[in-house]
Amino acid sequence: MGKSYQKQWVGVFGDPVDDNPTVVMEQAAFDYAEIPMEYLTIQVKRGDLKAAVEGLRAMNFTGINITMPHKGEVLQYLDQISESARTMGAVNTVYWKDGKLTGENTDGKGFLKSLQDGNVSIKGKKAFILGAGGAARAIAVELAGAGIASISVANRNEEHGQTLVKIINEKTAAEGRFVLWNTTLSIPEDTDILVNATPVGFTDEKKPDIDYDSLKEGMNVCDVIPNKAWTPFLLEAKNRGLRTFNGLQMLVNQGAVAYELWTGRPAPVEVMRKAMEKEYGVILP
Ligand code: NDP
Repeated sequence: MGKSYQKQWVGVFGDPVDDNPTVVMEQAAFDYAEIPMEYLTIQVKRGDLKAAVEGLRAMNFTGINITMPHKGEVLQYLDQISESARTMGAVNTVYWKDGKLTGENTDGKGFLKSLQDGNVSIKGKKAFILGAGGAARAIAVELAGAGIASISVANRNEEHGQTLVKIINEKTAAEGRFVLWNTTLSIPEDTDILVNATPVGFTDEKKPDIDYDSLKEGMNVCDVIPNKAWTPFLLEAKNRGLRTFNGLQMLVNQGAVAYELWTGRPAPVEVMRKAMEKEYGVILP
């Protein structure tokens, strides 16, 4: 066989996208597995997404990640969408399946994998989610798909919160409930899985406005903040002896799912995790 100079392309479309770190873990994984694949971080402005998707078809891309502001718009340009991504109304990973350009959402799947790797049981349990944005939506839909019994959604903006509760009640088998978050929140003591799905703690050292004394033994406490192993929120839980799951592992896990969709091979999760630890200068527990 002759030498091949050709590479397989994957990457991310977004705007702004220059601070998106996904290339670090995906490229580390491709290089480790000696797959001739290259991850490109590509600025696609609002209004240019249709042309960009046509371009990736024309240039035979293996797949692409989709980030802000395109996660919702991209659905209409694809050949098929997974059931959970359709329920969420958001796609973050595009790949080829049976010759069709297919949309999937790996955010919630990455979250779920962290819990499953920790042997946390989900069936019949109760979740309490802080926030009702894209991350909350992805997590709620995947928890429902895994058989959770009920999901409470606490949000400042009632309309945003009710929109997610409606999705849970109308499109999943779980029971959704809205909690208005306009004062320091007390977490119900029968909560099994508590999730911070707000950006609080991302660019600051703040923690969500809840009564930390209402955290009770047996609760699994999860954060979505992707750039830290220990947010102030998770430290509060740890100091009370509770099990914690961080957003950095969620980020790695969702990237691992995308890797598997693109390559058809198991992801070298440890390699990806180490690459992100190095990038963020943290050590994961
Ligand atoms: P959105 O903007 O879609 O939603 C943000 C949500 O947080 C809204 O419900 C908003 O409430 C709420 N919120 C914002 N600030 C506060 C505050 N100070 N107090 C209480 N609630 C607040 O964001 P996303 O869902 O896309 O992202 C949320 C976080 O999740 C980000 O930090 C992002 O980096 C992270 N993320 C991590 C992933 C991972 O793999 N680890 C994957 C995806 C996201 P309201 O409606 O009232 O405005």
